[in-house]
Amino acid sequence: MTDVASSRPFVVAIDGPAAAGKGTLALRLAEALGLPHLDTGLLYRAIGKLMAERGFDLDDAALATQFAEALDPEDLKRGDLRGREAGELASKVAVHPGVRAALVDFQRTFAARAPGAVLDGRDIGTVICPDADVKIFVTASPEVRARRRTDELLAKGRDVRYEAILAETRERDERDSNRAVAPLKPAADAVVLDTSALDRDGAFAAATAIVEKKREATSKGA
Ligand code: C5P
Repeated sequence: MTDVASSRPFVVAIDGPAAAGKGTLALRLAEALGLPHLDTGLLYRAIGKLMAERGFDLDDAALATQFAEALDPEDLKRGDLRGREAGELASKVAVHPGVRAALVDFQRTFAARAPGAVLDGRDIGTVICPDADVKIFVTASPEVRARRRTDELLAKGRDVRYEAILAETRERDERDSNRAVAPLKPAADAVVLDTSALDRDGAFAAATAIVEKKREATSKGA
């Protein structure tokens, strides 16, 4: 895939549930397109982590909003944001409308810079970048996602059980899909990419084809 060289920023929005493989996919697409990548989950993870380590109540919407407003991009570089625990904390603070509102500008500014960006999250195509050039909703069945996550953790030597990971995956889906603000759902104009039967390369090839098709349509003025 050739990289992006146009005057208008080219924005790719990748959304989907936890452990669907969207992070890896977004990163590979960004590299192939020569665009910066923002993993927006890190914003929520950093807030959850900063609050939890100070012993604050994650259900306190006003306090969580203050943390979101004070978030420093340097906080996103912490080494302890990628794990399961931070993911759980993130999905708790992500339900607060004030938290979400405080993070909008940072994400939109990232997307608006030339030559564009690839952002992944839950509400990129629906709320943050509703005019994104390409929207892909990456999903897979809860069983497949839980199996992948279990295998990943076992490979790292962690003592985990598939059943527990499956329950956790379902719980996170439930919280992300049923919150009042910016729930997890595909944008009306998103292409849904189900990776249940695809490996990483297969998912990347499918996503690349979606991007290419959109770029062709855009260049023809469709
Ligand atoms: O994508 P990741 O697993 O890092 O996201 C962690 C949590 O942060 C999600 O379960 C979700 O609750 C929240 N999140 C969100 N909106 C985003 C990105 C993440 O609500 N754009």
